[in-house]
Amino acid sequence: MNATPIFRRVALIGFGLIGGSIARAVRAQGLASEIVTTARSEKTRTRVMELGIVDRVLETNAEAVQDADLVILCIPVGACGPVAQEIAPFLKAGAIVSDVGSVKGAIVREMAPHLPASVHFVPAHPVAGTEHSGPDSGFAELFINRWCILTPPDGADPMAVETLRAFWAGMGAKVEIMTPDHHDLVLAITSHLPHLIAYTIVGTADELAQVTSSEVIKFSAGGFRDFTRIAASDPTMWRDVFLNNKEAVLEMLGTFNEDLSKLTRAIRRNDGEALFEHFTRTRAIRRGIVEIGQDSAAPDLLLRSALDSVIASAAKQSISRHNGWMDGFVASLLAMTPRVSKQRVGWMG
Ligand code: NAP
Repeated sequence: MNATPIFRRVALIGFGLIGGSIARAVRAQGLASEIVTTARSEKTRTRVMELGIVDRVLETNAEAVQDADLVILCIPVGACGPVAQEIAPFLKAGAIVSDVGSVKGAIVREMAPHLPASVHFVPAHPVAGTEHSGPDSGFAELFINRWCILTPPDGADPMAVETLRAFWAGMGAKVEIMTPDHHDLVLAITSHLPHLIAYTIVGTADELAQVTSSEVIKFSAGGFRDFTRIAASDPTMWRDVFLNNKEAVLEMLGTFNEDLSKLTRAIRRNDGEALFEHFTRTRAIRRGIVEIGQDSAAPDLLLRSALDSVIASAAKQSISRHNGWMDGFVASLLAMTPRVSKQRVGWMG
């Protein structure tokens, strides 16, 4: 718990997995004297009031941001531009305005033109998540030991950037700063492509299921079940991610398709040597990840029960079961040789 709050008033626009987790973490760590929030629907606002996690739930975005020192948009990427335009006249001079969107170039392009020069715009992306959404899905430990990437525009006030860094660090995150374009390229391979692959495989299996439904369900205990978990991620959020990180995703998809074609050709030509060489290379990458401590070599089930007991006995120390920055990279590699542990691979958007 922080001795001195970093902000007097924090306003969260949107209260789903990420907004709800921020609210819980801010409260648990004493990072703000007051947390106010709003959500698009009456249903969500009512639920947030019932949960009692924030100090005030307001009806409109304009009311929520008034007099706030930090405003964070916790809504789908595609909604950030119009909401920035809506709140602009009501922002306090000197306030920090941020977001949590999984894409950064589009956020800067869509939000920045609407914001007054009197506020500090510092976009952010916590690389942490689950496949759940809504006000009940958040938890205070979500960001512990996970990366949060800040993408301040050129000329951003260093004090504002430092204050936001301290805020995310206060919630347990490791903070990195990069340009929006670099962020989008990195996340295209570590997170966006793995999600696209999962959506594809589950969709393909669903078509097969028309013919062999019992087999698809019956034998889904292996890698396929893990893909269904990723493919259960929020459709609105992921639609917006792909539409707003189009170039980087298409670039990575091009490379992926080339590699897939090579493997396809190797199988068709009975080229065992090529397959063996490829799988040996990916196995070495996997071992490298384990060696640098970004994942464990323990079997999934053992690891899962060990993690559960550690988490149960160390709850006071807020140990999170979500791992670090390399999780998405692990997911992307394992997406090609599917054996993803849902406990080990933190979902990230
Ligand atoms: P979520 O659980 O679905 O919550 C979304 C919130 O946004 C809800 O409060 C919803 O209000 C509100 N909302 C939806 N559409 C809106 C619109 N058009 N205008 C205004 N408000 C709207 O989503 P989330 O997982 O927290 O994701 C929020 C943001 O975090 C996204 O930009 C996503 O890219 C980013 N992110 C997600 C993850 C992840 O794994 N989920 C990880 C990192 C970053 P109602 O409930 O009233 O509909």
